[in-house]
Amino acid sequence: MQAQSGVSATGVNAYYGAFHALKDINFQAQSYSVTALIGPSGCGKSTFLRCVNRMNDLIDGFRQDGLIEVNGQNIQDKNLEPERLRRRVGMVFQKPNPFPKSIFENIAFGMRLGGAPKAEIEVMVEKSLRGAALWDEVKDQLNKSALALSGGQQQRLCIARTLAIEPEVILMDEPTSALDPISTARVEELIQELKQDYTILIVTHNMQQARRIADSTAFFYLGKLIEQAPSADLFERPQDTHTANYVGGNFG
Ligand code: ADP
Repeated sequence: MQAQSGVSATGVNAYYGAFHALKDINFQAQSYSVTALIGPSGCGKSTFLRCVNRMNDLIDGFRQDGLIEVNGQNIQDKNLEPERLRRRVGMVFQKPNPFPKSIFENIAFGMRLGGAPKAEIEVMVEKSLRGAALWDEVKDQLNKSALALSGGQQQRLCIARTLAIEPEVILMDEPTSALDPISTARVEELIQELKQDYTILIVTHNMQQARRIADSTAFFYLGKLIEQAPSADLFERPQDTHTANYVGGNFG
């Protein structure tokens, strides 16, 4: 039997203590495509994103149930330790968070911890920086502090750091909301390139962005996934009145 590819969720519920944050979520992100998660603040988008790589497990009192599969494997599988899952499902955050180290070390650090030999690390640093469309800008200053880069470059460095762990899926939580319009355009372009090799899930508050870069968009509201459809359909022909109101700019 062919394993289902991409990320799928079936009947997922999530709780912070007694608070029921995600209610019966059914979701599908195809491989080699971008899937956007939109909806007003507090409706559960980030919670859902963090369920996919079990990052919420680190929060006291959190629990999730239902089934999430990454390329056909149940993420709760006893043989899949959360650390290994997080190498398969990388994450990029809203605010670029480079380590206070050199550009080179930001990428090499994790690989070195994993015991990779020096030559392999050098090859991977270049490959990841190229993959994140940053190589040409930094190749002559790899020893410079990552903190000296612009915000947009820092975010591409964080994307490069994620690529270096060779994930299958990349989760992005509002990756451009702290960036200026030019850096945002550059990162959006990069996301379009990356989808050829990865499954990308992106939380965004920017509906134009979802429309521009996402193949499929899921609308969340009050902890529920109200509807998911190819982006053009969701924005132009929403099936649910809540979706229509939100994409029409009437709330949120
Ligand atoms: P969104 O990403 O759509 O803005 P979140 O997933 O961040 O929404 O939050 C969904 C709900 O879960 C909100 O009501 C929020 O207050 C709550 N929540 C998020 N993180 C925590 C946490 N660590 N502890 C308790 N409640 C949380």
